[in-house]
Amino acid sequence: MKSSPLVKDLVNALQFLPGIGPKSAQRLAFFMIEKAQAKSRVLIDTLSECLEKIEHCKSCRNFSELEICPICSNPDRDHTKICVVENPLDVEAIESNSDYDGLYFVLFGRLSPLDNVLAEDLGLEHLERRLNAGTISEIIAATSMTMEGDATAFFLKEMGARFSVLVTRIAHGVPSGGELEYVNSTTIMHAFRGRQKY
Ligand code: ZN
Repeated sequence: MKSSPLVKDLVNALQFLPGIGPKSAQRLAFFMIEKAQAKSRVLIDTLSECLEKIEHCKSCRNFSELEICPICSNPDRDHTKICVVENPLDVEAIESNSDYDGLYFVLFGRLSPLDNVLAEDLGLEHLERRLNAGTISEIIAATSMTMEGDATAFFLKEMGARFSVLVTRIAHGVPSGGELEYVNSTTIMHAFRGRQKY
């Protein structure tokens, strides 16, 4: 039996998701329509609400439904430290696996001039404004151990130098080429505690 055009549309639509090819899309579509209708409706409602309400925190750029996210507005956190990461998953990984209590800045990428990703595409002017305010004493470059991650960390080092702010780089135990979100929890903890002046 051939699939209905609507089912085909769903299968095609699902394939924009990372790691989902035609076969997986088909399995997911059939599962949602046949076995998990109620949960699929919850998924759709939650996704719509997210798309409608989630924006970027005006301070750290992480996802937030508030203008300033709960981390940035928490007075118990150390507001003199900013940990710069490539994506929101890194914030999650650090929050769950380390005792870091400072703030964050989320780049949503990393510098890659060859792919036309420049400082302004990563919102680095917002970070510069925060440094200019004079309340930051340390930037932790927690970008990935890749060529682009290193280039981004180097950019941060130069930015920190302009404002006489200490820049440290997490390195210890994070494998070369390592994306923070895939690194295990003990390693993240050690990487933070053992961070070095960059
Ligand atoms: Zn924030």
